[in-house]
Amino acid sequence: MIKENEQGILIVVSGPSGCGKSTLDQKLVERRNDTVISISDTTRSPRGDEVDGVDYNFISTEEFEQKIKDNKYLEYAIVHSNKYYGTPNEHIDEMLSKGKNIILEIDIEGARKINEKRPDAVFIFIMPPSMEILKKRLIGRKTETKEQIVERFKTAYKEINEVSKYNYVIVNDDIEESVLKMNSIIECEKCRVDRIEEVYLGNQEEMIHELLVDFDKENYKEKKES
Ligand code: 5GP
Repeated sequence: MIKENEQGILIVVSGPSGCGKSTLDQKLVERRNDTVISISDTTRSPRGDEVDGVDYNFISTEEFEQKIKDNKYLEYAIVHSNKYYGTPNEHIDEMLSKGKNIILEIDIEGARKINEKRPDAVFIFIMPPSMEILKKRLIGRKTETKEQIVERFKTAYKEINEVSKYNYVIVNDDIEESVLKMNSIIECEKCRVDRIEEVYLGNQEEMIHELLVDFDKENYKEKKES
């Protein structure tokens, strides 16, 4: 009856470092085989047990700048400590046209650029339950120096001020609940009427003719039985 647009959804997820967005996205894609996380390029060094090609593509500044010149990024930004972060545009449209939802875990600046280029994208902001909890999480993960933590904490204040520019906000208090919420957002977005390409109801005259025939058959059956 309805032909829907089969395109995947481009999902932009932002939130301060330590809000738990990577864990959340990871858990979501484990549950949904129609959803993938885009792997960004960055010029920062790997942290903790991060793996090249899995968490990020860790590349040199020269390589990154060459890729900017070659127009290889859907968006890029300089985030912490003058390090580049960028979303390679390779594969994005191909994956979306195959019906895969793609998650971009990017900062607010990148999200703004995506909003200009791809107004069809869905913007989700992941919020820590409180600044106190964010502070504890940043210190607890033991992957940054004191200076880096202060920088990320300062950036968090700036980022949280931008929350109203997003379509949805998830306060990440309980990870399982947050995954359910994110899953629900995707399901809701799939039900948007602007995804309908065609509504086909059949020919009205023919349908009414069939309705009358069926009605008479039913009544005839009932009369025979009584
Ligand atoms: P982290 O160094 O903690 O992994 O990430 C720092 C920030 O960079 C986070 O806010 C993260 O979402 C953002 N980020 C990661 N990849 C990209 C990207 O491809 N583009 C942009 N604009 N930001 C990114």
